[in-house]
Amino acid sequence: MPIDATQPYDDGNIFARILRGELPAKRVYEDDFALAFHDINPQAPTHILVIPKGAYVSWDDFSARAGDAEIAGFVRAVGQVARAAGLVEPGYRLLANTGLDSHQEVPHLHVHIFAGRPLGPMLA
Ligand code: 5GP
Repeated sequence: MPIDATQPYDDGNIFARILRGELPAKRVYEDDFALAFHDINPQAPTHILVIPKGAYVSWDDFSARAGDAEIAGFVRAVGQVARAAGLVEPGYRLLANTGLDSHQEVPHLHVHIFAGRPLGPMLA
């Protein structure tokens, strides 16, 4: 079910539970600001999700409420995950669904990293 990007944060959401170590995930990176793990239903040969450690529902929530250090740390972490996975060449795509029309399903901000094949023109 798609979720509303402006809903209050739900501490029981699946990515909050992965962050707390209550649910398993194929973790690939962790630092003070972010955790990265493989998507359970990959849409490309490489499909990694990067989530902030803070409690943010969506990109909207994060960009409005997070502190500058958290924002910088998270953005750097996304780049670091892609570099560490060797994705810079031939390239990768970032996606952060936000709100109902985007079909965001998990109410904890996540940036998708897609790579491993030519991804074609961007979706409208
Ligand atoms: P959204 O549509 O919210 O942008 O993307 C949610 C993503 O989370 C989907 O690609 C879905 O496959 C992934 N996902 C949902 N539940 C789990 C889970 O329990 N573990 C992992 N690793 N990925 C999940």
